[in-house]
Amino acid sequence: MFPERPGRVLPSALGLNGEFYARASATGRLHLQQCFDCSAWRHPPRFRCARCGSSAWTWEPTSGHGRVFTWTVTHRPIDPAFSGELPYAVLVVELDEGPRVVGNLLGIEPAALSLDLAVIVEIEVVSPTAAFVHFRPA
Ligand SMILES: [Zn+2]
Repeated sequence: MFPERPGRVLPSALGLNGEFYARASATGRLHLQQCFDCSAWRHPPRFRCARCGSSAWTWEPTSGHGRVFTWTVTHRPIDPAFSGELPYAVLVVELDEGPRVVGNLLGIEPAALSLDLAVIVEIEVVSPTAAFVHFRPA
């Protein structure tokens, strides 16, 4: 399902970033913060709501659906664990809930990407505290 990438760098398990990845790992679903007071979704994780300033939030599961907002194609990897997959695309996807999330492309070649392409998230669990976010065409 997911390509083997021995030695790859895992996401940080610290702070709110760590909570984001631990929740994805525990559930296999993409969760984002949602403001308890005004219901605004937000990402990346932070302590206060940009809309109303509230410091109260919950982690809520997203639909997992979104559209390609932009992408970049990597021809020279920073992490050598990805050198066998060149070229690969990293996407910015605007979720149906609103926030934009970065993830890897699965299922099609980067040359087949188009703006506004409908995609769905896939969570790759790699440890109890880490997961990778991928998207494939819906
Ligand atoms: Zn708010």
